[in-house]
Amino acid sequence: MKPTPEKVLVSACLLGCECRYDARHNRDRVLERELGEQGLEPVPFCPEERGGLSTPRPPAWIERTGAAAVLDGSERVLTDAGRDVTDAFVDGARGALETCKVHAIRRAFLKERSPSCGVRQTHADGRLVDGPGVTAELLRRHGIAVTGVEGRRDTD
Ligand code: SF4
Repeated sequence: MKPTPEKVLVSACLLGCECRYDARHNRDRVLERELGEQGLEPVPFCPEERGGLSTPRPPAWIERTGAAAVLDGSERVLTDAGRDVTDAFVDGARGALETCKVHAIRRAFLKERSPSCGVRQTHADGRLVDGPGVTAELLRRHGIAVTGVEGRRDTD
């Protein structure tokens, strides 16, 4: 009998879902190939859509410093027009964690630089900063290994 493949959480936009704020995707065929070669089963997930935000949607960023402050309740996530979308970002992050628990997922591959999914870098105060996005930070706090993926890579 074939072993059950390990499931991993993957930012849906990296798998071709047009769920970015501008309704485009970041499909990464190199990542898809690598997951396949390792026998990993991707579970696509978009925290911002899960949090109730529409697509397309205005770009948003963490208020000042980073995701830890958002999860600790001392900073908000704001759109470029100043609308408070903190609840949607936190709900989306919690949805990602819940999905990991449901599928016994221990690893996530997330799109770099997103205010939700970024791992090494994210957006705060309208600029690129070092540090994770809201979903990556919550998953990390709960022991999920998060790997940042650039996206838009092709095998050709
Ligand atoms: S980076 Fe994350 S939140 Fe943004 S579109 Fe991709 S999956 Fe959704």
